[in-house]
Amino acid sequence: MDTIYCVPEIGIMLEVDSMEYESVIGLEIHSELSTKTKIFCGCTTEFGGDVNTHCCPICSGMPGTLPVMNEKVVEYAVKAGLAMNCEISLFSKQDRKNYFYPDLPKAYQISQYDLPICKNGYLDITVNNEVKRIGITRIHVEEDAGKLLHNAWGNGTLVDMNRCGVPLIEIVTEPDMRSAEEAKALLEKIRTILRYIDVSDCKMQEGSLRCDVNVSVMPKGSTEFGTRTEMKNISSFSATERAINTEIARQINVVSEGGTISQETRRWDDEKGESFVMRTKEDAQDYRYFPEPDLAPIVLTEEYVENIRKNLPELPDKKHARYLSEYGLSEYDTTLLVQTKELAKFFEEAVSYGALPKAASNWILGDISKVLNERGITIEEIEITPKQLAELIGEISNGKISNTAGKTVFEEMLLNTGKSVAEIIEEKGLAQVSDEGAILEMVKKVLSENAESIEAYKKGKTNVVGFLVGKVMKESQGKANPKIINQLIVEELNK
Ligand code: ADP
Ligand code: MG
Ligand code: ZN
Repeated sequence: MDTIYCVPEIGIMLEVDSMEYESVIGLEIHSELSTKTKIFCGCTTEFGGDVNTHCCPICSGMPGTLPVMNEKVVEYAVKAGLAMNCEISLFSKQDRKNYFYPDLPKAYQISQYDLPICKNGYLDITVNNEVKRIGITRIHVEEDAGKLLHNAWGNGTLVDMNRCGVPLIEIVTEPDMRSAEEAKALLEKIRTILRYIDVSDCKMQEGSLRCDVNVSVMPKGSTEFGTRTEMKNISSFSATERAINTEIARQINVVSEGGTISQETRRWDDEKGESFVMRTKEDAQDYRYFPEPDLAPIVLTEEYVENIRKNLPELPDKKHARYLSEYGLSEYDTTLLVQTKELAKFFEEAVSYGALPKAASNWILGDISKVLNERGITIEEIEITPKQLAELIGEISNGKISNTAGKTVFEEMLLNTGKSVAEIIEEKGLAQVSDEGAILEMVKKVLSENAESIEAYKKGKTNVVGFLVGKVMKESQGKANPKIINQLIVEELNK
């Protein structure tokens, strides 16, 4: 397969025989934990706020201050580790990662080095209908840095320390992915899980989920990985895919021309669609990691870990399998329903109120999702409740109202009038006519006006039945039960 990629450095479209090369991808994912307070002090973690108003002497790095570990951070990290099938370390510790940058007032970041809190996990992703297992090397806890505001005031750069000390987990994967698609699938899986377990809101745009991608290429079939580059500053899921594909193309171009890849950190510019060298890659020793002397190690008991494991909600993979077997939904619908826990919850509640699963799924993925997209709201904000949806589905399936009338009821419920499904049906006169006597009257009337259709039917043109059903339906102003109309017309025609 010849793929054409744009290689911006040389400003031309270059045809690359990607068949000859295989790409290798590993991710480092940072996720801000949604604890109320920061990792080592009591300041709020809230996003936004006036610059430098969410900080204190501890998180702004004043000398002599002492950090205290926020227990919730440990709990959330353990939760994330268990949800990603990791081993939880009963003994882990914090380390100082030393580097100078203006957004890091202490000139070291408190992180974890050789003893992360979680390790050796995995997650399964599905790409092109194939399930693939991706190793999770480790998950560690660390503090976030502040933000630099360039040219916000006059001609310089200012530091906003509101984000300093916001707790992060860093999830490091094995270099197990072979395409941008797989990397994106894993990132999405991780977001879904972190949201299910309520430890992060994972908004890439607000930076509460950030992803650095490590990419290398090697000749197809090789067992030795090529030199990797690391790319930073990727701020959306689609940008992840673009950044990886562009980097793969760049590297293939370099090596196929006989060049070598240097281990470096690059900065992705999504608008330009290209990446730029930030720095040649530092090794771990450059950070002069050493144990954080101001914090006690994190010592956990089996009981503590098991207690968190017991309280984990049903996770997306398990839910997926259950929806397929228990509700007989399609693979496609199931994938959409379990993608967010709110959608899944709404669905399950509707079913618990007696809604037919297939119908509930259709309403949620159809009309309801349409409203959510149009209004940019979540399913928790929509006016209709799972119980009302179940009632609506019940009235359609028991023949009280038609599908079309169902849509009218749905629209009415969105107006938040507080009326029940039954009240709306009553008030709008939407009840379907199932009274055979009344429908027979209408059938007879329509047949008397359409003698030629009767002739046609007698000659074997049975498709006139559909036409006649339509006529009767119109006669009843859409309220007659179509099943009964159909049955009565056939009976009359066969007389
Ligand atoms: P560092 O800590 O220096 O960033 P790691 O060994 O922890 O280095 O690896 C960081 C990331 O790079 C991991 O996600 C890993 O899967 C990935 N990685 C390692 N080697 C390669 C490679 N040859 N190609 C692509 N990704 C790689
Ligand atoms: Mg790294
Ligand atoms: Zn603080």
